[in-house]
Amino acid sequence: MRIKQGKYNKQLYELLGESKNIVLICHHNPDGDAIGSMLGFRRYLQLRGQNADMISPNSIQEFLLWMEGTNDIIIGEKEPGRAASLIREAGLLIMFDFNDLDRSGKLRDHIAESEARKILIDHHPNPVIKADLLISEPGMSSAAELVLALIKDIEGKSLQDNIFMESIYVGMMTDTGNFSFGSFNGDTLREVALMLDNGLNKDKIVSEVYDNFSIDRLRFKGFASNERLVYIEEYNTAYIYLRRADLDRFRYKVGDTEGFVNLPLSVKGVLMSALFIEKEDHIRISLRSKGDIDVNKLASKYFNGGGHKNAAGGKYAGSMEECLDYFEKVLDREYKQKSN
Ligand code: 5GP
Ligand code: MN
Repeated sequence: MRIKQGKYNKQLYELLGESKNIVLICHHNPDGDAIGSMLGFRRYLQLRGQNADMISPNSIQEFLLWMEGTNDIIIGEKEPGRAASLIREAGLLIMFDFNDLDRSGKLRDHIAESEARKILIDHHPNPVIKADLLISEPGMSSAAELVLALIKDIEGKSLQDNIFMESIYVGMMTDTGNFSFGSFNGDTLREVALMLDNGLNKDKIVSEVYDNFSIDRLRFKGFASNERLVYIEEYNTAYIYLRRADLDRFRYKVGDTEGFVNLPLSVKGVLMSALFIEKEDHIRISLRSKGDIDVNKLASKYFNGGGHKNAAGGKYAGSMEECLDYFEKVLDREYKQKSN
């Protein structure tokens, strides 16, 4: 997608030019887009001769650690004091790929209290974050594509730097499930084409991101669809639930369940899928849908979460049994309301 020419240029350019101590922050449990958009922007600043610190609220999944620059990202949970003081002393905070401060984990209060000027660069609908410059473009495939478009608008052409292109491509590719779903369009693919012309090694990136799992993870995926999948035909819905014992059995590592939520959508007739994972004191929920079914609304109304229309997440405070029971009641309620 494109942004209206010049829409953010002046303010963005001024904020970048005037600010000292720039700190970039992505969301909790960062995905490829959170990391890709942040690294891409940091690369742009480097090329402009500006330094910036980068913070992730918690650790980065293994399949992203090959990316250039991940070593420089400060992990809030590992170095809370350092992260807090960087945010406190920042002149400019730039936040990537989230629309609600609750998504910044334990950094939340530090960000809220910081006197720094703030920029939000995000593609989730209805942001509730206050910022001096709110760059919210829900039509974009990814925050990474938005970063690319913003910089293109400032510079008058797309950046051809290899580290920049790799970072942006990871964000676009992961948020669209390797260009299969979500809101990418001709503009997205024209930028991809340009990156390929400029030497982007897409095969390397695909292989780093998608072909880097353990054998345990592959077996876990099989187990999940064989033993833990529930199909509710009348609601065009299927879900997978994973207990702690299941995670232990397959020696779960962070990132191993990435993509599991999409598995049920490959079944003919399934329009909504859910993944429930038992955490220490709550159930973590991921939701996906096709077409008009709005899981963002479902997540925010019933599961204390949010996201996009076709991809959202949230949590439930209670046991797995209670959560699944509640979910089925929610389906019953929402679907019955619709047919009335
Ligand atoms: P995932 O299911 O991959 O964790 O998240 C899917 C989408 O929903 C992402 O765009 C993510 O930003 C959003 N999301 C996931 N969990 C939450 C949550 O707890 N709160 C909000 N507001 N958004 C979430
Ligand atoms: Mn994103």
